[in-house]
Amino acid sequence: MLRNIISKASPFTTFASRSMSQAAEKKLSGKVAIITASTEGIGFAIARRLAQDGAKVVVSSRRGGNVTRAVKELEDEGFTDILGLQCNVAKEKDRVNLIEQTVAKFGGIDILVSNAAVNPAMGGVLDCPEPVWDKIFDVNVKSAMLISQLVLPHMRARKGGAIVYVASIGGYHPIDNLGAYSVSKTTLLGLCKAVAQQLAPDNIRANAIAPGIVKTRFSLPLHGNEEVYKKMLATIPMGRMAEPREMAGLVSFLVSDDASYITGENFIAAGGMPSRL
Ligand code: NAP
Repeated sequence: MLRNIISKASPFTTFASRSMSQAAEKKLSGKVAIITASTEGIGFAIARRLAQDGAKVVVSSRRGGNVTRAVKELEDEGFTDILGLQCNVAKEKDRVNLIEQTVAKFGGIDILVSNAAVNPAMGGVLDCPEPVWDKIFDVNVKSAMLISQLVLPHMRARKGGAIVYVASIGGYHPIDNLGAYSVSKTTLLGLCKAVAQQLAPDNIRANAIAPGIVKTRFSLPLHGNEEVYKKMLATIPMGRMAEPREMAGLVSFLVSDDASYITGENFIAAGGMPSRL
């Protein structure tokens, strides 16, 4: 009774208690997030961070054993709303299954982080054999567009959503010996802008992040050999490579309501590496 009188009498009390309950609720509570290629490296760090921020998270990659390991690691950390699915983003059947199983388990989709990429061969862009070029563009660009198509009806049903494409600093300034890969990442920056423009009226936002050099298995050719490692460090003003978790907070922000008026943007997290197109 007394509490009712106070809350009716004092707008400040009402505001204060609402603020406290909002603080208790995590910023991605109730959201369902698919992260492709998320059983290790940057994708796994993003999955963990979105789970920490309250999202129901779907981890996936090509190999079932990796999926099982990643799910176990997250569950061992105490997260309960985790779904693991085998999905090679280049395969239509896998992409469709990823979406269908997610909706069956969690009832919808709010967030897509399109993180998958390959680089089957090193070399300059004009040295790239056609089959290698096709594979790079199939996985790195085409699958990102096709998965975006598949999540669209589900985001529309929720009256909003957020997509993040994981591009690369190489999309701005080609990385030595990663010619075709770098061009595929430039294309992804363009895809992000085009998707954002088309989906803005649906309250679906699309942004891209461009990581610098992050220490993962994928970037082993850039840090596995001492001589190459030193050469690469010399190109990074901060003088070090990033850890995968250093990409995750940015993604969590971009898919949250804190970024509700941000769409079509490309965000660079590259320790100061040059980033002008
Ligand atoms: P990573 O640690 O090697 O992890 C790669 C992940 O992708 C694994 O979970 C792998 O699992 C999965 N994967 C590979 N091909 C796949 C496919 N066709 N379909 C689905 N999953 C696939 O790589 P990372 O360095 O974190 O790279 C992640 C993203 O960041 C990529 O888009 C990459 O271009 C970008 N990036 C990385 C760096 C860097 O320096 N590391 C810099 C800029 C941008 P399976 O083997 O089980 O499939």
